[in-house]
Amino acid sequence: MTNRSGSPIWHPFTQHGLMPSMMPIASASGAWLETPDGTKLLDAISSWWVITHGHCHPKIVDAISQQAQTLDQVIFAGFTHEPAETLARSLIDFAPRGLEHVFFSDSGSTSVEVALKMALGYFRNIGEERSRIVAFEHAYHGDTVGSMSVGARGVFSSPYEPLLFDVLRIPFPSAGNEQLTIDAFAAACAAGDVAALIVEPLILGAGGMLIYDASVLRELRRVADAHGVLLIADEVMTGWGRTGRMLACDVAGIAPDIMCLAKGITGGSMPLAVTLCTAPIFDAHRSHDRSRMFFHSSSYTANPIACAAAVANLEIWRDEPVVDRLAALVDAHAARLAAFRDNPHFENVRQLGTIAALDFKVADGGYLASVAPALSRYFLERGVLLRPLGNTIYVMPPYCITGQELDLVYSAIADAPDWLARQTT
Ligand SMILES: *Cc1c(COP(=O)(O)O)cnc(C)c1O
Repeated sequence: MTNRSGSPIWHPFTQHGLMPSMMPIASASGAWLETPDGTKLLDAISSWWVITHGHCHPKIVDAISQQAQTLDQVIFAGFTHEPAETLARSLIDFAPRGLEHVFFSDSGSTSVEVALKMALGYFRNIGEERSRIVAFEHAYHGDTVGSMSVGARGVFSSPYEPLLFDVLRIPFPSAGNEQLTIDAFAAACAAGDVAALIVEPLILGAGGMLIYDASVLRELRRVADAHGVLLIADEVMTGWGRTGRMLACDVAGIAPDIMCLAKGITGGSMPLAVTLCTAPIFDAHRSHDRSRMFFHSSSYTANPIACAAAVANLEIWRDEPVVDRLAALVDAHAARLAAFRDNPHFENVRQLGTIAALDFKVADGGYLASVAPALSRYFLERGVLLRPLGNTIYVMPPYCITGQELDLVYSAIADAPDWLARQTT
């Protein structure tokens, strides 16, 4: 049986039984997607959180096209190339102090797998028996088996549960409960077998845009240091401006031992990821002994075209007023969100940097909240791409979005309760 459109394609996080056909997209520019028949759709979720400056930024498009004609791909074991070297140096320049080495891969999930393997390899090589990973409740770190293991468990992980490894879960540090989280982490560390704590700094993305206080990160850093535990910052979503600064770690003023970056690293144009680490972690793998090397690679590690796109992204950060754009978007969200604070249909109106979120009041919340697919369809009818997480509606647009475009998004959200009421009566 094919999906009803006759296509053999199996789409991600898609229930084909409920969604008979996919919307074709032919082109994109700035904050807009366009279908083959010319219908325009405002991309209010940055095409799953990857597009930062806007679609088809000319400098990134140029860099890709130049690089594709020069060096398309080369094995990265034993070889190197200029786009990767330039990118690695630039990444180290802006990364928090202490991060000195760059390992390339090609997706956020893989960058997390690499981070976990780095942590365990480090302790193996320095002769300490530590292999336990600590992670937040509600965390999301990807969909491969290892990254799923450190993420929250639920309906989306239950078929694969037998393959997932155990992690120590600490409570999400919701407002007022910060000390619980810190105490739980300290208690976990006391056992002596903890290798690393993995966190999404400041905001849990797929877990529902759950924001927590930066002071928690500083405390967790302190506890980790006291116990020789590595801190892994998964900045796959938060990196590249989402929090209003380049990195969430900058906002919190912390330096992790390992940091994962993906999504916006190429401005959203090409799949690429990096895992940054400190000198001690690299040095523990460096030896004359082949059995101590870091056993990881993917075929496309540091693909030159993807690296060139990422170098162009960094040049945009350097040469264009990206920081001003971020500040304007932060203000633009705040001005529009204010109206929802006393709207009885919504609750938990919140914002972190360029990410705005609010919860639709419904009886059954959670990821499978029946309201989500209906809302998605409604937003598409309004010409806006939004993809609620359960009953959480979030707006995470590319930074080129204008105030007027943002108004289209927020007016569609404001009208959603009425539309929904009409569907059920
Ligand atoms: C999206 C995401 C990932 C996974 O990245 P992919 O490129 O989709 O594999 C990992 N961690 C966080 C925090 C994410 O938001």
